[in-house]
Amino acid sequence: MDTVTLQEIKESIRTIPDYPKPGVQFRDITTLLGNARTFRRVIDELVEPWSVAKVDRVAGIEARGFILGGAVAHQLAAGFVPIRKKGKLPHTTVRVAYSLEYGLDEMEMHEDAVSRGERIILVDDLIATGGTAEAAVKLLRRLGVEILGACFVIDLPELGGSKKLTDLGVPVRTLVSFEGH
Ligand code: AMP
Repeated sequence: MDTVTLQEIKESIRTIPDYPKPGVQFRDITTLLGNARTFRRVIDELVEPWSVAKVDRVAGIEARGFILGGAVAHQLAAGFVPIRKKGKLPHTTVRVAYSLEYGLDEMEMHEDAVSRGERIILVDDLIATGGTAEAAVKLLRRLGVEILGACFVIDLPELGGSKKLTDLGVPVRTLVSFEGH
């Protein structure tokens, strides 16, 4: 496969203006995922800092973090753990509340999904304010794991999420960034 540049990855992401509400530029990665070359390159790039590290599990945030996280876990020969919206997981869970732009939401993991001391990577498609990823970090730390890093295809740096995670002591890897929301 020939080399796909980060610019090509950026161009493979479709922007939908005013979705799901006016003023939001929705960064749609379905166009990236549907292209074999860009999908493969994105996974290769996301795992790069940990390609020779021992990683026990990859935690993916619902829902696009499942697609990317599953592929990242396979690449690193690690297990995959879903972090889901409340009420979706069938076994005993641990839960954390986090703020959205309007109001609160909660996310959950199975309490036995990870073991104390395991080395984990967190995955989602995009980091904006960092509220979602911060909640996932809290949940994972409550279960006593070591978070080696968090990776995202897209950064919206003006919203400060990457800095928020770095300040929490979590190394952040992002591949492309867009201005604004
Ligand atoms: P935040 O908690 O503000 O960092 O938001 C990150 C979560 O919201 C991720 O799960 C993203 O998939 C989603 N998200 C936030 N802003 C956008 C956007 N402009 N385009 C696509 N997804 C977004």
